[in-house]
Amino acid sequence: MIKLYALTIHEAHQLLKEKKISALELTGAVLARLSKVESKIGACVAITEDLALKQAAKADKYIKGGEIQPLTGIPVLIKDNICTKDLRTTCSSKMLEDFIPPYDASVVSKLKAAKAVIVGKTNMDEFAMGSSTENSAFFPTRNPWNLDCVPGGSSGGSAAAIAADEAIYALGSDTGGSIRQPAGFCNVVGLKPTYGRVSRFGLVAFASSLDQIGPITKDVTDCAIVMNTITGHDPLDSTCLPYSVPDYTNSLIPHLKNLRIGVPKEYFVEGMQEEVRVALKSAINKLQELGAKIDEVSLPHTKYALAVYYILAPSEASANLARYDGAKYGFSYQDTDNMWEAMEKTKQFGFGAEVKRRIMLGTYALSAGYYDAYYLKAQKVRTLIRQEFDRVFEKYNALVTPTSPTVPFKLGEKVEDPWQMYLSDVCTIPVNITGIPAISVPAGFANGLPIGMQIMSPPLNEEILFRIAFTYEQATNWHKMKPPI
Ligand code: GLN
Repeated sequence: MIKLYALTIHEAHQLLKEKKISALELTGAVLARLSKVESKIGACVAITEDLALKQAAKADKYIKGGEIQPLTGIPVLIKDNICTKDLRTTCSSKMLEDFIPPYDASVVSKLKAAKAVIVGKTNMDEFAMGSSTENSAFFPTRNPWNLDCVPGGSSGGSAAAIAADEAIYALGSDTGGSIRQPAGFCNVVGLKPTYGRVSRFGLVAFASSLDQIGPITKDVTDCAIVMNTITGHDPLDSTCLPYSVPDYTNSLIPHLKNLRIGVPKEYFVEGMQEEVRVALKSAINKLQELGAKIDEVSLPHTKYALAVYYILAPSEASANLARYDGAKYGFSYQDTDNMWEAMEKTKQFGFGAEVKRRIMLGTYALSAGYYDAYYLKAQKVRTLIRQEFDRVFEKYNALVTPTSPTVPFKLGEKVEDPWQMYLSDVCTIPVNITGIPAISVPAGFANGLPIGMQIMSPPLNEEILFRIAFTYEQATNWHKMKPPI
């Protein structure tokens, strides 16, 4: 008896196409799995059983009529900062606890057009600010590999859910590592596409020059399949690139001959866990065995990326979050007839500590007298970092690094120390600063906890990521390991 909930997208699609299973059966199996394990993990802020069953029945009708697309009838979870029409979208914040969007994000419209089945919305760090999902205003999510550990963040709900087979795939968002870091922590695949490759329309804005939506999946093939559906130009997002979309599954080529891969030495940072270093070393040896030419390279400005990020992201956040004033939508403090007090109290009670910290940091960095020293300087360093990557990519097809410097840490271990938490994104943040794409794939374990390998490529070259990630995956078994839940 096969466990339907444990299938990948491509496996489920095959069975649906051959009519060996129905979308209703598949959805039923996923919902049963959800109700069995969700109380231990806490990956979801909403489970949309009725909607899912309705969409599954509809998908079955389409399949019967011979109309099946790669995502038709397949259950998906959506991070709760991606707007879903008539379905609460909270950003795991008290501020939006009762917010019901009047429209769908463009990625959700695309999934609906593909007849996907939405089984719920996933927990996250409030407004996507964090690396552990402990900043959710509702409850923390736990790592299915060890319930005492965090799943990473901010898309921790999406990654934990996919690792625990609570859906077949999920969507996340990534501003500084929020797809890749939790994917690495949970032994699943996560891709941050090139900035502008996927529409951000309907993604609740955190830092608009860095935010990107992407897939979290059980393997690389699934990741390519989801990208085929969610990618592409969108007139509703002016930063969305007007380029045609390749069929990413054509890049699932299992060899690396003639590829040059750089290993930037600055990403093997001080304070990095020894087990992560060892796992990455053997992953890199594997890539070499598979035909890639590997060289050490240097990206010396990397050391400024974290500082640049923590000026730019809070600055953009302080502007984006100014809209939560209690007047338009979301939480509104009413117990006063003084407008200023209402606004102040709305923010005081609506936002959690980390969000307030970011707003204050950003407001400071943008204020008169400090703007040149912080914001403008950070923008200039951002350009230097980008130029350095461009130079390295003249010689190399891709770069390989760890996704995170450590394996998943314990709940409570870093949440009181923002600086320690910020450090967990040192390897992922440069990718958002430069706008390039990167993927995290399972690459080993230490003490039963997953280790991720990050692969970066030049902008708009997701194909090379898929090829390297796929080749590596075919030659290893890490992605097949399941947590003991
Ligand atoms: N952890 C980083 C932060 O707290 C990145 C978050 C993200 O990518 N959304 O800002």
